[in-house]
Amino acid sequence: MRLVLVGPPGAGKGTQAQFLSLHFAIPHISTGDIFRANLKDGTPLGIEAKGYMDRGELVPDSVTNEMVRDRLTKDDLANGFLLDGFPRNVAQAEVLRAILADKKTPLDAVLELAVDTAEIVLRLSGRRVCRNCGKVWHLEFEKPANPNICDICQGELYQRDDDKEEVITRRLEVYQEQTAPIIAFYRTEGLLITMSAVGSVSDITDRAISALSRVQ
Ligand code: AMP
Repeated sequence: MRLVLVGPPGAGKGTQAQFLSLHFAIPHISTGDIFRANLKDGTPLGIEAKGYMDRGELVPDSVTNEMVRDRLTKDDLANGFLLDGFPRNVAQAEVLRAILADKKTPLDAVLELAVDTAEIVLRLSGRRVCRNCGKVWHLEFEKPANPNICDICQGELYQRDDDKEEVITRRLEVYQEQTAPIIAFYRTEGLLITMSAVGSVSDITDRAISALSRVQ
């Protein structure tokens, strides 16, 4: 199963990707996670990406595409992969199509997680992440006992810089202007499956698995 997850920031792509990657036994490749890991390690890539991420802008295609091209050469992809957060514009979608065409491993499906804007702002502004284990909490929907401490590992919880309200607004604009056009691109390619991403996490996972089981 070679799959792309698409949807606005806060649609739950990362959360669903974790469950879907387990279910289909495919690696979860999140460009946002790769940038954040590089930032944590202080690599030149992480430092370059940080300014864009903090402003809610896209990291330039030249950087992002090469990072993905490199990731897609690793030898853990025999069962496929689940891309989360890439592509984020039509140029990236075209690069991905070319990379996969070279490998003769085209995409099987693009799953769009649909959520309206008011719900997104609520989801993102309450999100907190554990600095130690990476677990994602929510101050309303998945409350830790203490808003600053991870229940699992006692690590410190923090709010991603790009989950602050002014950056959320910019990320949503960037999504509408640059990322939403890939939906039409993939519809034309006959790969698009759209589903509602509102409801409990497990209901959404079930919905996604049932939508995707028709693809294989
Ligand atoms: P995410 O965790 O997917 O919300 O990504 C966080 C941030 O990383 C985004 O707001 C962008 O600044 C950057 N980023 C992630 N994926 C991409 C991509 N495919 N192209 C450009 N920038 C990206």
